[in-house]
Amino acid sequence: MLPMPQAARANPMIFIARILRFLFWVLIVSWSVSLLRRIVNSMGGAATGRQQPIDVPSDAVSRKLVRDPVCGMHLAEGLAIAEHSGGEPVFFCSEECRNKFMVEPRKFAANA
Ligand SMILES: [Zn+2]
Repeated sequence: MLPMPQAARANPMIFIARILRFLFWVLIVSWSVSLLRRIVNSMGGAATGRQQPIDVPSDAVSRKLVRDPVCGMHLAEGLAIAEHSGGEPVFFCSEECRNKFMVEPRKFAANA
């Protein structure tokens, strides 16, 4: 006689059904644990803001268009030469335009 559990000897189908039920629960538990871990990870990532960094504001500033009062050209603020004239910031495309403005600020002030 083979050494088998009492239940299996009595009815092998019940023994197999118990193993299957056990494997089924192991599968369910492992699946729910991995799902919970995924939820916790996604929540943690959102809380710290590591996964979705907020757009850098300085980038938006450099993309803002300004007008050169001397030649009337539009250019990105980040690329322009900034100068202060009467408390107001004035932007130029080049040193040449800036120099023209500095010689006669009143002439170009109306264009700003
Ligand atoms: Zn210019």
